[in-house]
Amino acid sequence: MSQASASIPATSSPAALHPLPSYLQEDKLGPWGNYLQQVDRVIPHLGSLARWAETLKRPKRILIVDVPIHMDDGTVAHFEGYRVQHNVSRGPGKGGVRFHQDVTLSEVMALSAWMSVKNAAVNVPYGGAKGGIRVDPKKLSRGELERMTRRYTSEIGIIIGPNKDIPAPDVNTNEQIMAWMMDTYSMNTGSTATGVVTGKPIDLGGSLGRREATGRGVFTVGCEAAQHIGMEISGARVAVQGFGNVGGVAGKLFAAAGARVVAVQDHGGTIYREAGLDVPSLLRHVEETGSVGGFPGAEVIAKDAFWDVDCDILIPAALEQQITTANAGRIKARMIIEGANGPTTPAADDILQERNILVLPDVIANAGGVTVSYFEWVQDFSSFFWDEDEINARLVKIMKHAFAAVWGVSQDQKVSLRTATFIVACKRILHTRELRGLYP
Ligand code: NAD
Repeated sequence: MSQASASIPATSSPAALHPLPSYLQEDKLGPWGNYLQQVDRVIPHLGSLARWAETLKRPKRILIVDVPIHMDDGTVAHFEGYRVQHNVSRGPGKGGVRFHQDVTLSEVMALSAWMSVKNAAVNVPYGGAKGGIRVDPKKLSRGELERMTRRYTSEIGIIIGPNKDIPAPDVNTNEQIMAWMMDTYSMNTGSTATGVVTGKPIDLGGSLGRREATGRGVFTVGCEAAQHIGMEISGARVAVQGFGNVGGVAGKLFAAAGARVVAVQDHGGTIYREAGLDVPSLLRHVEETGSVGGFPGAEVIAKDAFWDVDCDILIPAALEQQITTANAGRIKARMIIEGANGPTTPAADDILQERNILVLPDVIANAGGVTVSYFEWVQDFSSFFWDEDEINARLVKIMKHAFAAVWGVSQDQKVSLRTATFIVACKRILHTRELRGLYP
């Protein structure tokens, strides 16, 4: 511990002196509760930095906004929106925006915290943030969606910006929504600010390779881990839950490498084919119909039967808390690659570890998206754009390097890859916390 830090009062004073705000007490079993359990598991490994660990358990800034819009039928509808900046010790906040009917504040808090950990794990110079609106966007017209996106952007405009907090796509948000966010922020501030969001269309300062980046990262760490455990990708059977930006691209890359994608589940159905699904055709089917349901030539199986599918690699790439004590004991895969954020509960994690199933945790496995978002932000600032080969090569290099470091810690300290990733990342976050000190 440095001399300077030794004289700073530790944040580990008695709990009575710093009671938790009410909104941090509510959610014991949800995503935020899961995140807190993950933090508790890492604290014993943080050495002297553990004195700052309370920082990880309290989001820095939470904004809840009312988002009123004119509906096409002449009524006014109100939606609840959030932007949470969990930690900005290492740089501006960074994290996606989710439009989903089940979005809650505690979910957004957890997602923002996982962004802090993820960004530190791959060592991009960002803190963690996340946003969301509690809405089913599939029920809105295009005009309503645009008005809601623009009003939300105006409402959170006081805390976002290219040097403050940079949103990106997440579930049910895409390049077009990023374009509207960028335009709204630019109109409000009086100059074109391409760097305020990432995941934009290429013609608006987006980056080549960003759309595929998260899936490419999932594939990259999957291949690295497969080497460590002696698994051949060619011929491996893969099951994917969620066939959107992350799951669709990951499935495509695994299939292109010779793997057999035997089962896919999305919000509209669960399909199975032992010989392997034709992934390019399935992607076209999803683009045309919105779901994997009704894909010709595939067997339809029950939603819950997805977890019993005989496979080597399982990729949850939909929502949180999908792998629980109810199904962790049934999973047949040797390796789980978390494309989604928070898909596995801590209790399920323990079951998987006991069963010797290797889990590549979200905070490293899906970090490819934010890594190329970082490249996009750098390109926007310099107004100099790289070609796709360069972007993919840099992405793969960062992912391999980060994964190797995490693998090493996990072997040395005999901890799961999740705890190893939290060790690497939380040390980075808390070290910057200590260097910066407390102001005033
Ligand atoms: P998306 O909207 O493109 O796709 C989501 C997919 O999940 C769709 O196929 C949808 O049908 C499916 N889904 C929704 N509800 C489901 C349910 N109840 N059961 C089964 N499937 C369901 O979203 P995305 O960007 O691919 O994000 C998926 C996950 O990956 C999220 O957890 C997100 O936070 C995470 N993630 C995304 C990125 C990114 O760059 N897009 C980066 C890191 C992590």
